[in-house]
Amino acid sequence: MSFNSLGLSAPILKAIKDQGYDEPTPIQKEAIPVILSKRDILAGAQTGTGKTAGFTLPLLELLSRAKPSKTKHSVRALILTPTRELAAQVGESVELYGKHLPFKSAIIFGGVKINPQLVQLRKGVDIVIATPGRLLDHISQKSIDLKSVEFLILDEADRMLDMGFINDIKKILAILPSQRQNLLFSATYSDEIKKLSDRLLNSPVLIEVARRNTAAESVKQTVYPVDSVRKRELLTHLINEGKWKQVLVFTRTKHGANRLFGQLEKDGITAAAIHGNKSQNARTKALADFKNGEIRVLVATDIAARGIDIDQLPHVVNYELPNVPEDYVHRIGRTGRAGNVGEAISLVCIDEHEYLANIEKLIKNDIPKIWLKGFKPDPSIKAEPINQGGGRGAKGSNSRSRAQNRPATNAPKKSSRSHSGTRGNK
Ligand code: AMP
Repeated sequence: MSFNSLGLSAPILKAIKDQGYDEPTPIQKEAIPVILSKRDILAGAQTGTGKTAGFTLPLLELLSRAKPSKTKHSVRALILTPTRELAAQVGESVELYGKHLPFKSAIIFGGVKINPQLVQLRKGVDIVIATPGRLLDHISQKSIDLKSVEFLILDEADRMLDMGFINDIKKILAILPSQRQNLLFSATYSDEIKKLSDRLLNSPVLIEVARRNTAAESVKQTVYPVDSVRKRELLTHLINEGKWKQVLVFTRTKHGANRLFGQLEKDGITAAAIHGNKSQNARTKALADFKNGEIRVLVATDIAARGIDIDQLPHVVNYELPNVPEDYVHRIGRTGRAGNVGEAISLVCIDEHEYLANIEKLIKNDIPKIWLKGFKPDPSIKAEPINQGGGRGAKGSNSRSRAQNRPATNAPKKSSRSHSGTRGNK
């Protein structure tokens, strides 16, 4: 099946061709015709499936079918995302796929100055991509007029609810015109998502594509058992030996991210760290430097990495395993996207064996282990409980760790217990 048979017009097909896409992904095949038939949809799709184009392409098509006014731009489509990074990326996609069309778009998120956004909105835009908080600021300042909105898209709705945006969403819904088309994208279905979709959607068409990340067929996963104190050395070794040019490395905490970043720089490997304590501008710059190859390693915490989309990212390293097993799935989903093969490597010390067991239970698979010569764990080292502030002996604080907002997930227990994970499996 090619894009030509989906009902998209020439300027959009041209933009798709410019991107070099040969055929639509499964979510695009399913969602585009339904959206073009003006139905609401409830779509279960994760990042990496091509969902952004899945809603952006038909949205641009529908906007361009209505007679566009040459002079007046009013907000006709509103796309809500949970994070600034995702807003920026969706905004980029809107620009990219709409580059042969006359529409203007604005990306509206907090953490940056509001003035440039005010100027942009005053000039008039057709499509707004926003995070809920800053959008509400504009609404209360009356700097945005939403009475012409015809399309509402909630992207990663489950994360929006996870992040406590439900009241903000309700406030925004209350001021939108009731006649509109609604598209809701969520990676998971919970009772909350069901409630939201009942409230928001009008006889929606349900679209579900395979949760590629749980199968993770396109991601080669490996665990390297290693002592905690030797992780940095092993990471440097892997980067140098493999001549890796672009690797996203995850730590559990901001403190861990900063520390690792400093150590990598000392090892002569160009790196940057992104986490919640960095300003939005610093995060945007780090991401841009990483994307265009100026730095080889981006060290990130789970929250900072949400929504990050890097084409053909070949390597993801879990420098520290996440304590929330679902985060592992999100992390490794950053690689192996849209038909590419990616590699996800986890450096696992004895303290983390329980985290590993929980992850393997979740993905219903044992991850292959490789004991690398020269890095085999010292059998005399016993497991210690992990300090949520940053691992063995770390002093860092992580007071806003999501783990604290979730039910306890099998915190590691005292050292004397036997670990069924990787030990003795040589
Ligand atoms: P998303 O799921 O929207 O985050 O998209 C994941 C990645 O897939 C993005 O980097 C897109 O550029 C890419 N992509 C989207 N649609 C296609 C397609 N039909 N063929 C190849 N790559 C695509």
